[in-house]
Order: sequence, then structure tokens, then C-alpha cells
Amino acid sequence: MTISCLADLATDNTFAALPADFYTRLSPRPLQAPRLLHANAAAAELIGLPPSVLATPQFLAVCSGAAPLPGGDTLSAVYSGHQFGVWAGQLGDGRAHLLGEVQGPAGNWELQLKGAGRTPYSRMGDGRAVLRSSVREYLAGEAMHGLGIPTTRALALVVSDEPVARETMETAAVVTRMAPSFVRFGSFEHWGLNDRPELLRILADYVIGKFYPECREAPGEHGPLLALLEAVTRRTARLMADWQTVGFCHGVMNTDNMSILGLTLDYGPYGFMDAFQTDHICNHTDAQGRYAWNRQPSAGLWNLYRLAGALHALIPDTDALRGVLDGYEPEFADAFGKRMATKLGMAQWQEGDESLVDDLLRLMHANRADFTLSFRRLSDAVRGAQQGFLDLFIDRPAAQAWLQRLLARHASEDRATAERAAAMDRTNPRYVLRNHLAELAIRSAQEGDASEIDTLLMLLADPCTDRPGFERYANLPPDWAAGIEVSCSS
Ligand code: AMP
Ligand code: MG
Repeated sequence: MTISCLADLATDNTFAALPADFYTRLSPRPLQAPRLLHANAAAAELIGLPPSVLATPQFLAVCSGAAPLPGGDTLSAVYSGHQFGVWAGQLGDGRAHLLGEVQGPAGNWELQLKGAGRTPYSRMGDGRAVLRSSVREYLAGEAMHGLGIPTTRALALVVSDEPVARETMETAAVVTRMAPSFVRFGSFEHWGLNDRPELLRILADYVIGKFYPECREAPGEHGPLLALLEAVTRRTARLMADWQTVGFCHGVMNTDNMSILGLTLDYGPYGFMDAFQTDHICNHTDAQGRYAWNRQPSAGLWNLYRLAGALHALIPDTDALRGVLDGYEPEFADAFGKRMATKLGMAQWQEGDESLVDDLLRLMHANRADFTLSFRRLSDAVRGAQQGFLDLFIDRPAAQAWLQRLLARHASEDRATAERAAAMDRTNPRYVLRNHLAELAIRSAQEGDASEIDTLLMLLADPCTDRPGFERYANLPPDWAAGIEVSCSS
């Protein structure tokens, strides 16, 4: 069926069909005098929406919170979570409204507004999101997707002149985001740690039935639940390997921000690193560095322990739970090794490659070499032009020595240089969503100009492909970029 308006979308609101304990039905508080700053045709395609519909008043009304999604069932979900290592109790969608679940041509997608007003879970918050953080969220989902990393997507960015008080006065915006599900580790903790095993069971059955149907067949009384934990463990381990190998820091890896589907979720003070620092902290609010870059893999496992702790309400056998979590580290090591081998131009990950990677990261750290360029410029070094790579390091002899080791390692494989270099260029991005690029897009957006967002979405959708004329988007950050501070305030 061709879709010519939102009412033509087929909906199937499966989360809303869960018992009322899981959410509160409510209406958003629409933005005043909203303007559609950007609509994302690539995400729209996932639900079969043609560009013509994105330009309609109805689309703006739905994405600004003024009208419900036709066929939808608007609600805010409850969840709990551990924040910075501490049990925080009930949280929930404090500024998110699930509009409904749309049946797309290749699967279902939930549509959710972020920033459309207070909910019963807002606590002290105002239910709003500022333009600055909304642009960052809008771009990040698409940047991750372009890198092939599981993530929520962004459909629309609506802005308004409505003032919102943060450290300074800013203006409000609403992002419409999409995911097959927004269920979090914290959704499980909410029932598991509040002594409601019957609701935990319902949630687990829902998640297994809809997203992990293969787990249903696992033998034993607790087979399906353990299989679910195992699948989530694997996806989380692989997600952490994905983040590590592109220099991404999430910034707020609390259990309420951990997707049960292994998606990158809730983009706040995230960052793609410029100068590599192994203990880089992207969130200005995270003084202890709990979620520093080099701690992300262990934070992922810590969070899985909290998920397992929630499932303990249904599975008394702690050894069985722990046994499943023991699979995390090998899965992470395997995924990280495979990705790194590809980035470094090896056909296979083999004994000894680990020290090659460790030594490169150590060298990059000591020299504060740019993360993205350090990998991207390796392919030129393989082709014989080592200068660009070496220029990233103050200690050039050390960089040169490391490069010789890499080339010697390559020589142990039977593979043509051109083929190897091309494979490296297909995996090491030329363009990433550097903080200063996001900042420039924010500044333009504040003037009502979405052209930088357009440009970034074009580059980041296919980040490994060189685009003549867009060289400055691949350059080292300007000096002022060091002064950008990102905090939880959004
Ligand atoms: P975060 O760590 O930013 O994903 O948010 C933690 C919790 O605070 C979640 O339950 C959010 O819904 C809630 N929250 C964050 N900002 C606001 C806000 N401005 N208004 C209401 N709730 C908020
Ligand atoms: Mg959150």
C-alpha cells in the first residue's frame, strides 16, 4: 500500500497491550509555534513514509506533540535503574512519550517523542529538551547507524522559541526517535528489585516473544530466561566492542540507558574522541570517570550483572546466572579482536595481534594522536605513503617502529596491497561526528538553518567514502573544540 498520509500507516501497539502497570497513558504538551527543522528521509523509509508526508502539517503536529499518531496509543513507560553505581529506584520516561508502534515494510518501529512535556516520571525535571542536546541526539543516531553500529534512529527534529532554563536560557526542541523497542535493563530491574516477579515474567515473555523468539526453545525450566540473558550479554559485548573501535564514549551508561536490544540508546553527553586518551571522560558531570572510554567494557558487564540481579527474582540459581555472564568477556574480546584486525588490514586475527593493537593504542595515547585519523591514514601507509600517519605522532621514531611491525605482520598474509588498503578504507571512517562538527550544526540550527545537519547526515550515512569538497569535515578539530564541555544537562 502506498502511504500518502500518517493515517495510512499500519499500527500494532504491542507495548501498550501490556498491563497498565508498565506505563501511564497521557498526552504530550505540544511545543508552542513549532517548526520542523529537519526530517530524516532515511528513517522515514523504514516505516514506509515518503518524503511528501514529511512536509505535511499533520507530520509537524504529531512530531511536536500537538496531535496523536493516528492508530497510536500514547504513553510514558516506567522503569528504574542504577545511576553511577547506585540504585536510584523508580525513574521512567520523564520526558519521553511513546506514540505507538508502526508496522514498517521490514519490521516494526516504535515512535517516541523526547522533550514533549512532563510525565508522572519527571521527578524534578521540566519534561523538555533543549535544541542543543536535541541536535546532538538527532545526529548521533544516524552517525552510529552509518558506522554499522546498532542504535535508535531519528525521524524528526522540531524546534520552537519556547524558553527552557538550563545553565543558561535555551530554547526547546522535540526529537522523534525510533527503535524496535525502548525497553531497558532498568525496565527489568523495576520489577525484579521491587518484588513483582509476575510483572517481570510478563515483561520477559514480551521481550523474548517479540525480539528473541529463538530463546523460547531453550530447554529447562529457566532455559528461555537464561537464553535471553545470554543473548543480551552477547549483544552488549559486541556493542561495547563497536563503541571501542570507533572511539565513542557514551557518557551515561546507567542501567536505565542500556537497551535490552543492545542498541546505543539515550544520547546525552556522548562524544567521538578526537585526540585519543584511554581514560577520556566525555561527560563533564562524571568527575570520577566511571564511564571513561577504557571503562566502558567493564561498565557494560557491571550493568549486565544488574540485569541478572533483576532476573534472580525468577531464577534462584545464581551459579547459572553467573555462568551466562562469564560469556561476556570472551565475546567482547572476540568482537574487539575481529574489528581491530579489520581496521589494521589483517584478514584474520591471530596470536600476537593483541600486542600490536595494545601498543598502537598506547602510542596514540602517549602522543594524543587523533583516533579517527590514526586508523584512516594507515591505509595510505600500507600503500607506501607513511607521512600522513607519522605526522599524527610527536614521537615519530616510535610510530615508525610500530608501523614496521604492522607491515611485517601484513607480509605474513598472502594479500595484494591494493586490496588490503581498500578493505581498510571500507572500515575506518573518514568522517565521524566530532564534537566541533555537532557544535557547528547546533549554531546553524539556532539560526534556523538546517543545512549543516543536512551535510552531516549525508557524510555520516556513508562515513568511509571520500567526498571531494568536504575535506574540512575530516580534518583535525580546530583549537576552540577543546573548550566544548558536555554535561548531563540537556
Ligand atoms: P538520562 O540519564 O539523561 O537518560 O535521564 C535519567 C532520567 O531523568 C530519566 O528518567 C529521564 O526521563 C529523566 N529526565 C532527564 N531530563 C529530564 C527533564 N528535563 N525532564 C524530565 N525528566 C528528565
Ligand atoms: Mg535515559
